[in-house]
Amino acid sequence: MKKIAFLGLGTMGVGMTGRLLEAGFPLTVWNRNPSRAEPLKQRGATVAATPREAAAEADVVIAMLADDGASRSVWTGPDGAVEGLREDAVAIECSTLSPEWIADLATLVEERGGAFLDAPVTGSKPQAAAGEMLFLVGGAAEVLDSVRDVLRPMSRDALLMGPVGSGAKMKLVNNFQSAVQAVALGEALAFSEKCGLDPVAAMHVLANGAPGSPLVKTVGARMMARDYSVNFFLRLMRKDVNYASQEARRHGVELRTAAAALDAFDRAIEAGWGDADFASVAESIAGRKPTAS
Ligand code: NAP
Repeated sequence: MKKIAFLGLGTMGVGMTGRLLEAGFPLTVWNRNPSRAEPLKQRGATVAATPREAAAEADVVIAMLADDGASRSVWTGPDGAVEGLREDAVAIECSTLSPEWIADLATLVEERGGAFLDAPVTGSKPQAAAGEMLFLVGGAAEVLDSVRDVLRPMSRDALLMGPVGSGAKMKLVNNFQSAVQAVALGEALAFSEKCGLDPVAAMHVLANGAPGSPLVKTVGARMMARDYSVNFFLRLMRKDVNYASQEARRHGVELRTAAAALDAFDRAIEAGWGDADFASVAESIAGRKPTAS
């Protein structure tokens, strides 16, 4: 079986590495905060001291990191993974990142002799743990086909969206839509409540009527339960809307609804909700702050 290196053991990385271990892949992991690697070590993973060391033996190197800055430092910083890449290795960047950085990273990997895919995912913490994510892939079809065995235990499918960068672009289009829906739902709830409607009855109508997308159903349920344990940090959703706006602008499209969503997430972060789940944007819209724990 292919040897895998996995960089980044956050909310998503933990679930994804669990699936790779269950499928029997020899796995080496690295995380900036090494304590997060400990449970995987107990389950048979090797823990590397640096991204470079993790990549050195690997057939496939996968990263799942917060943002462009994290990806840049892990792949290209001192002891970065690119330096360790074998010439025949495939590098797969699964984080949600800007297409501009993805293009730079692909060039660096290819200059080193490796092959590159951008493969951000849809699905959240539960889907990562259950191996039910969807990979949105940019790159060459033959490279994707060469790693389908590795992606399979983590996903229900891997869709080739086009050349390198296409996965990143599709993910930003997707999360722009999700972010706008979440903010609109938070506003709909505040509106219903303030105008005297029963919020439970209002959510029932919304979730089961024309607006009832899968996101409205799942995020709406969390808003009603006021459960903001983290599936997806609000500050990371803010990052995605920002990357989407910047990318759209590069192509001459102004995402005005994204600008409104960005403003709502900025206000939520200012109110202290950045490290809660993004569903908590409803609390900020309603004018509530997190209670001190
Ligand atoms: P997370 O829980 O915040 O984990 C982020 C990871 O990035 C951690 O391993 C963290 O290391 C690492 N990191 C952050 N800054 C770093 C730096 N400067 N240098 C090195 N490592 C750094 O995030 P997540 O929810 O797993 O998301 C990971 C990526 O997937 C993000 O791009 C996110 O947008 C995307 N995504 C998330 C979801 C979701 O629902 N959660 C769904 C689809 C896509 P430490 O442990 O040391 O902090």
